[in-house]
Order: sequence, then structure tokens, then C-alpha cells
Amino acid sequence: MKKNLFCAAMLLTSFSAFTAEQHAHWGYSGETGPENWAKLTPEFGACAGKNQTPVNLDGFIKAELKPLKFNYKAGGSQILNNGHTVQVVYDAGSNVVIDGVEYALKQFHFHAPSENQIKGESYPLEGHFVHADKDGNLAVVTVMFKEGHANEALESLWTHMPAKEGDKIALSPANNALKFFPKDHAYYRFNGSLTTPPCTEGVRWIVMKKPVFVSKAQIDAFKKVMVHANNRPLQPINAREILG
Ligand SMILES: [Zn+2]
Repeated sequence: MKKNLFCAAMLLTSFSAFTAEQHAHWGYSGETGPENWAKLTPEFGACAGKNQTPVNLDGFIKAELKPLKFNYKAGGSQILNNGHTVQVVYDAGSNVVIDGVEYALKQFHFHAPSENQIKGESYPLEGHFVHADKDGNLAVVTVMFKEGHANEALESLWTHMPAKEGDKIALSPANNALKFFPKDHAYYRFNGSLTTPPCTEGVRWIVMKKPVFVSKAQIDAFKKVMVHANNRPLQPINAREILG
């Protein structure tokens, strides 16, 4: 029961109609693993959809993508371990403007190894910055981490690493998510889904072209608390185009 409540809490910002009662247990291997998500409960039916994430970003369609406008302020006020990821909950008041629409930053979290790939390359860590507009439409901005020197922004976060599932730790002062992005905000874009059940589609995906660095010790610290890999396998691109 305790586990179910935390899972529901993770989904709350992105899928408010989903209640703890409806929530089926899911994981990254075995009977509750990604191959079986769509069969676990009717609410996870979208996991068998045609527009799923993650994907291998390749075969780009050249496009004049408008620069992203980030209006972020310090707002990462809590870090938690929900058993599926380590997530930072963000206070209201920060947004990114995509196609003239404001998407408020709700939370960000991590996957190791990366879920998406760029031209067939997997990365040791991927950050997902989850945004929603006033109608609940989602936009996820993704950053790839490449192994190298320690990441300064992660360093301050990881000192508050929630070691066990259910752990929640307040961040004071609040963290600014902008520090995680590369200086160059050039990006790829495609349409996809949540990468965790209920795998809801209609999510705008923005993938930063340039990776940022992360040290091996920082990757290991995350993997240690996750215990297992938390990346969904690649999904077919089907009829979608990747702009870049
Ligand atoms: Zn994610």
C-alpha cells in the first residue's frame, strides 16, 4: 500500500485522474516489466501505442526550430525517491515557452542508462524536465549526461540523495534547474509519450543536442539508490518525424 501511494504521487502532476486504487504495480524487469505494462491493467493500454517514448533519434528532418525561452527561477524544493526514479519537485513560477505557449516546470528526474538515444548512442544518465501547460498538455525537456568531469548542479543535489524508496528531503535553498542545461540550447523535437505507465501519448519531447558532463562517481551514486536500471527499452518510431 505504501508503495502504491508513492507511485501515485509521482504520477499526480502528469496524470491527475489516476488514483491509488487504479494503480497497478510495475517495474523494469520480469512479469511487471516494460514488455508487459500494457497488459497489467486497462489504464496502461497506451503503453502498446504507436507514438511511444523512448526512441532512437535519427533520420532527422531539417527544421527551423524556434529558440526555447526558459523563464526558470530557483524552485526545486524537495528531492524524493519513489522507487522508480529520484525526482526533484519544483515550485510554481518557472516555465518554458514552446510555440508561444507557456509550459510550467513541475518536476525533474533521472534515468540510468539513458532512455532515448541520439544516432544510436546511449548515455549513462538522462534528465527529464517535465512541464505542463494550463490545459495539462505535457512537454518534456531532456538532457543527456556524458561521463567526464563532475557535474556541479548534480553535486549539490546528490548531497541530499534520498537513499531509500519513500525518502523525501527538503532542498534549502531551492535548486535552479537551468543549471543542468548545456549553454547551447539547440534541440531535437518529436512527439511521444510518458516513458512510464500509464504511457500517456501527446507529449512534446525536446531533446538537447549537446550533452553535459557527469562523473562516474555521480552515476554510481544514482545507480546505487535505484538498485536496478530504470530505462524503458527503445520504442518504434512508426510514422513520426524527428525534427532537428
Ligand atoms: Zn522520465
